Amino acid sequence: MGTMWKRSLLSKVSVLTAALAVTTGTAVIARPAYATDWGSAAVAIFEVGAQYAYLSRQVHYLDNEGRHEYMDQIKDKYGVNGDPAANAMLDRLMGRLSASIAAQEPKSTIGTQPYEYFVNNERSFNAFCTLGHNVSVNIGAFQKLNYNEDEMAFVLGHELAHGEKHHPARGVTRGLPVSLIAALYASQNPNAASYIGATLLNAVGTAKLVTKPMESQADKLGFDYAVGAGYNIGGGAALWQRIVERNGNGGGGFGELFNDHPRSISRRDTYSKCITKWSNNKVKVDAGTGEVLIHGKPFLTPEDTDSMSGKERAYLIAGNLAAVFHNPDKEPGAVSTSGNVLMVGRQPVMTWDRVSDPAAAQARLTILLQDKGRGGEDKDSVKKEAREKKGEKDKKAAREERVKAEKAGKEAAK
Ligand SMILES: [Zn+2]
Repeated sequence: MGTMWKRSLLSKVSVLTAALAVTTGTAVIARPAYATDWGSAAVAIFEVGAQYAYLSRQVHYLDNEGRHEYMDQIKDKYGVNGDPAANAMLDRLMGRLSASIAAQEPKSTIGTQPYEYFVNNERSFNAFCTLGHNVSVNIGAFQKLNYNEDEMAFVLGHELAHGEKHHPARGVTRGLPVSLIAALYASQNPNAASYIGATLLNAVGTAKLVTKPMESQADKLGFDYAVGAGYNIGGGAALWQRIVERNGNGGGGFGELFNDHPRSISRRDTYSKCITKWSNNKVKVDAGTGEVLIHGKPFLTPEDTDSMSGKERAYLIAGNLAAVFHNPDKEPGAVSTSGNVLMVGRQPVMTWDRVSDPAAAQARLTILLQDKGRGGEDKDSVKKEAREKKGEKDKKAAREERVKAEKAGKEAAK
C-alpha cells in the first residue's frame, strides 16, 4: 500500500515479530518465572485463552454480521474512486469470477455472502481481500496494468482465493500485536472490533498476514478461477512478466503487493508452465527470447507495442493458442484474419500490431496447426534426449570397462 504509512509500519512490524516469538507455542507457559509459581502460571494460561476467545469473537463479528460496517471503515480509510472504466471492469471481473468460484467451490459461501468490493484511491499497485469477503483494488493497479482485464483477472482471482480459503481470518493472529489484544481484552473496549479491523488494514500489503504456502495456494486457485471465468490462460504469466520488467528498474510502485524479485520470476515461470500444460504440451514461451513455440517449432517472436513488451505479449498469445489446443478431440478451425486480429476458428490469437509480415505469420500458423505434432520437434527432442541418455550410459559403461581393464593390467603387472 502507500509507501508513506508503510514506513511508519516498520516499527510496528518489528514489535509484532518480537511479540509472536514470545506467544506462539507453549514456551510462554514453560518460562522459568512461571515454573516456580504454579498459581500465576494458571492465571497466565487462563488469560491467554480468554484473550484469544475474545479476539476470535471480534474477528467472527468482522467476518460476518459486522462485515458491512467493516467495509465502511475500509472505504473511509482508502477513499472510493469513481473512475468509470475501472469500476465497470471491476463489476465485470467480480461477476465472472464469482460465477466461476460458485461452479468450482461447492462449499463456498459466495451465494449467501457475496463479495463486496470497490476501487480505492491508492496509486500504488495493490489489491486485497480482508475479513467479511471485503475486497478492494487500488486505482493504481488498473493504471499500471493498462486496464488489461485478463491480467486483472489473475490479480482478483488470487485475492478471491484468499477469501475462499479463509486466509484473512487465519492470518489475524499473525497480524495483530499481542499487546493490543491484551489491552482491548483488559479494557473490554466496546470498539474492539473496529480497532482490530483498523490494525489489520494497516498490515495489508506488508506480507505479514499470509504465509508463503497461502500465497502459492492463492496463485494456483486464482488460475482456476480466472480460466474458469473465460479469461486468457496466459494472463498470469503476462502479469508477472510485466511486474518483473517494472520492478527491474527499481520499484515503480509495483513492489508493495509482491515484493520479492526472484520470486516474481518463479511465479511467472509457474504460470508459463500452466499455459503449456493447458495446451497439452503444444505451446511454449521461451522466457529468454519471448518466442512463442508450437510443437517445439517457432511461430513468432512478438515485437513491443506501446502498451506492453513483446515478452508480455508472448504469454497472452500463447494463452490464446493454449485454448485452441486444450481439447485434443476438437479440430482447431481455420486460420484467418478478422480486421486487425489473427483468429483460429472463433478464438482470437493476437493483433497484427507491429507484425512486419502478417501473411507469412498466418501461413506459418496454418502449417503448424496442420502439423498436429506428428513428427514434431517435441517427439524428436524426446527421442534425442533418450538417445543422448543412452549414449551417456554407453560412454559410462565403456569408461568403467577401461578402468577395470587398467586395474586388471596393473594387478597383472605386480
Ligand atoms: Zn496473496
